[in-house]
Amino acid sequence: MTQHNTDYLLQMRDVTFRYQATSEADLLAIAQWDLRVGQKVFLYGPSGSGKSTLLNLLAGTLKPQQGSIRILNQDIALLSARKRDKFRAQNIGVVFQQFNLIPYLSVAQNIEAAAWLAGNTRADLSHRIAQTIRQLQLPTTILAQQASQLSVGQQQRVAIARALINNPRLMIVDEPTSALDSDARDSFMQLLLQVCEQANSTLVFVSHDQSLSQYFDERVSLASLNQAIPAKAEQ
Ligand code: ADP
Repeated sequence: MTQHNTDYLLQMRDVTFRYQATSEADLLAIAQWDLRVGQKVFLYGPSGSGKSTLLNLLAGTLKPQQGSIRILNQDIALLSARKRDKFRAQNIGVVFQQFNLIPYLSVAQNIEAAAWLAGNTRADLSHRIAQTIRQLQLPTTILAQQASQLSVGQQQRVAIARALINNPRLMIVDEPTSALDSDARDSFMQLLLQVCEQANSTLVFVSHDQSLSQYFDERVSLASLNQAIPAKAEQ
């Protein structure tokens, strides 16, 4: 058994989760889920099946009632809140469905904020931000723009730039393409996979849209991981 091998980015064991201690059943019960460093996975399942909940467990914003979730060999639930926030900022990049950019800040300030949270005060930070923006095929003039002025496509790329700024070992991307037409979606997906490959980040990409699975070598259905009551959402 390779219990705590450094080849693994994620090792999940015997995890159960329910939102209310009083609720009669677990939403998630996952005996084992492992991801190797650099693995890129498409995680799918119907709306309401628990995908976002699982991402929150990975990011440490929710804690399981039982079991362990080790990221880079660290059980994140055992960290103090402050250490967990720091660990997340340093090692995990998250792109939310709604991007969560701070609307009244500039693009540069949005990305700087993510760097500061991780304690990243490198002298060449603004150079690195500009480099990341170019990597996302955006013009560096966008750095001075207020986030609220961006198109949806620009917001998506800025959200990825922000998630990438601390070279995260794990990228978590939650259903980011629903607002894009199919051409824009295609170039977005290719770009996302390319930047994660360049950074050797492990990627967990969540969607209910199975057509996006074409971009991934590896697909996992939440139902295949989850031994809790199946098809709970449809009942
Ligand atoms: P998905 O991402 O697959 O659409 P979610 O993880 O968002 O699914 O939700 C799974 C189930 O958990 C749904 O029934 C949802 O209503 C419920 N749920 C989600 N967030 C909360 C919460 N904060 N409190 C209680 N129930 C929640």
